[in-house]
Amino acid sequence: MTTTVSEAPAGPVVDNPWENAQRQFDDAAALLGLEPGLQAVLRQCKRELIVHFPVKRDNGDVVVFEGFRVQHNLGLGPAKGGIRFHPGVTLDEVRALAMWMTWKCALSGLPYGGAKGGVVVDPKALSLSELERLTRRYATDISVLIGPESDIPAPDVNTTPQIMAWIMDTISMSRGYSTPAVVTGKPLAIGGSRGRNTATGRGVAVITLLTCKRLGVPTSGATVAVQGFGNAGTHAARLLRERGCVVTAVSDSRGGITSPRGIDVDAAIEHKRRTGSLEGFAGGDAISNDDLLELPVDILIPAALENQITSNNAERVHARIVVEAANGPTTPRADAILERRGVTVVPDIVANAGGVIVSYFEWVQDLQSFFWAEDEINRRLETMVEQALTDAWDQADARRVSMRKGAYAVAVDRVAEAMRERGIYP
Ligand code: NAD
Repeated sequence: MTTTVSEAPAGPVVDNPWENAQRQFDDAAALLGLEPGLQAVLRQCKRELIVHFPVKRDNGDVVVFEGFRVQHNLGLGPAKGGIRFHPGVTLDEVRALAMWMTWKCALSGLPYGGAKGGVVVDPKALSLSELERLTRRYATDISVLIGPESDIPAPDVNTTPQIMAWIMDTISMSRGYSTPAVVTGKPLAIGGSRGRNTATGRGVAVITLLTCKRLGVPTSGATVAVQGFGNAGTHAARLLRERGCVVTAVSDSRGGITSPRGIDVDAAIEHKRRTGSLEGFAGGDAISNDDLLELPVDILIPAALENQITSNNAERVHARIVVEAANGPTTPRADAILERRGVTVVPDIVANAGGVIVSYFEWVQDLQSFFWAEDEINRRLETMVEQALTDAWDQADARRVSMRKGAYAVAVDRVAEAMRERGIYP
């Protein structure tokens, strides 16, 4: 028997986040009829820094780590984007995350370009002092790019307010004075903003409730499954439960729990805080991350990593609404399947923008040395995420496309306009 080259490869499709991000952008460029030169500029990242740096382990051994800081575009202002510590970090992943930040900031009306950083490391395998040395050395090595006027990092997967504090202190030490505005997501005591820690989850919860309202889905008693129980996922789950939704499943990297009657989210958060994972939590039955995505719920909130809803499982997603708390959890192929099946997908650049919006508030407060009350921050956050959702949804309706395509059309158009106004240097 002979094999022809046209046969599809066996096994599941593996998605590259950067190829997916470029594909999403190309779709938007085609929708907008973007001029080819500008499309060529915007489909690449402006700057990509790769660093290899040594860290001394507590036992004296020296280990070399790889890290990245990528700036996708600076058309609208300084670069903004989180830093991820994870063993699976790749340059292509960081490129995709940087590009998504450009569109997210533009859609939310923030005066920022997009960036992202990452270190290939399992932070759970390091002691606290090793983690501090790694963070300070990485911050020093990317200090050629970051600064309050140039590029402002923030927390992402496995990075915390403590890690942001070390970055702020490291940059301040080399400058000789405190530069709180170099990074957001800091502890309150050193120029952090009230409401930043809960901002991403709060934005996700607000967007979920507004989406239900526009679709006519009652939120009281609506069932919710949340994949990923970290900063984004826990606060989204907690706030939705407070507003009357029933959270029937939650999970972290080691697996999840489900209960049709609803999970006590506060107790689950406390269990995770005490033990480091959801394993052993008594308030439900064990469920795998794969099965959680296919539960018969009204609302599915992926809040972990990219490529969770793919062409391999999209036919089996039963939720009526998917709200992307994570960046890039749905691949373009899966998007097409969900769209055909009538599932409403609120894309990442709309759904999780609460984090960067309050990061923007933190940066403004640091630059002015004037700090706002939490209720003012939450009120402004809600106004801005609602506006972004309305802009994206109205554009989608007007063009008869998915909400992702509508959101991209608004965002790419805003960045393109800025680039045209600025012109090509020299
Ligand atoms: P985090 O480190 O606080 O939490 C990540 C959670 O995901 C942890 O509970 C972890 O156990 C879980 N997880 C990891 N791999 C998993 C897997 N394969 N299956 C299920 N769960 C898994 O990170 P975070 O800040 O909450 O970020 C989560 C997502 O939200 C990321 O996509 C991130 O880019 C996005 N996001 C975060 C922010 C923010 O402000 N932190 C803002 C916007 C978007």
